[in-house]
Amino acid sequence: MPELPEVQTIVNQLKEVLVGKTITGIEVRLPKLWSGNKDEVVGAKILDVRRRAKMVIIQLDNGKNLVGHLKMTGQLIYGQGNKGDKGYEGEIITFPNPIPFAGTSLPGKTTHIIFRLSGGGILFFNDMRQFGWVKVLTDDELAEVEGKHGPEPFTDEFTPDYLEKILGSWGRPVKLLLLEQSKISGIGNIYANEGLFCARINPMKRGKEVEKEKIKKLYDCLKKVLAEGLKYHGSSAGDEAYVDASGQPGKMQEHFKVYGRTGQPCPNNCGGKIVRSEIGGRGTFFCPKCQK
Ligand SMILES: [Zn+2]
Repeated sequence: MPELPEVQTIVNQLKEVLVGKTITGIEVRLPKLWSGNKDEVVGAKILDVRRRAKMVIIQLDNGKNLVGHLKMTGQLIYGQGNKGDKGYEGEIITFPNPIPFAGTSLPGKTTHIIFRLSGGGILFFNDMRQFGWVKVLTDDELAEVEGKHGPEPFTDEFTPDYLEKILGSWGRPVKLLLLEQSKISGIGNIYANEGLFCARINPMKRGKEVEKEKIKKLYDCLKKVLAEGLKYHGSSAGDEAYVDASGQPGKMQEHFKVYGRTGQPCPNNCGGKIVRSEIGGRGTFFCPKCQK
């Protein structure tokens, strides 16, 4: 599932190409992934593209927002068509790399929503598993959704004191706290595993039992692994659909310390081996020897 680094990578690229353009048409091929009135969006100009938690927010100039969530296998891919404002009818865009589950050209069989933009740009929403969604929300509706999410890891709201506070009232495994979007935004399974390894904390440890000296370490480690994910444009491990907005895979998977590395020697050279277990039904990777 795309997490903060993957979604931010897409958002950074989309911001470059979408801001200032007008939405000239929307084709919804799979209605269950779409919620809203197309007429409220077509004709609006894009003011900004930003991320909140794992959502992509395209802010329009009419008090409306296109809000998208990629869930498990969603992709948002931008292509430049050559028909100008006349549109994409039948237009196919070919990409240098195969797009997972979609093929080398779009629209593909996993393309469910197509946004047409002034100047001939096309934004494709693909989703193999079909859990993702795009909604039209007013500014007020969006504020309400955003209010249900915890602090962003790279803002001043997220501090070691805040992390200590939420850990102190968490009697379940610490890993589940990191995944809880109402407590901290944007962290998913991959970066939770990597962050806990970095801080040498056992993912099964109860939140309130994490030692005080390890809390600051965890705080630094979460920011460190997320920043690394951003630097490598996210993770496109073999079983994932993630590509960036230009259709290119990320490279963070080459830098994983524990995620998907079952049976391999611990990178801390402690003599232990990485094991896999499950917490809350999600694959959990850690070194039982040095993560306490
Ligand atoms: Zn170890």
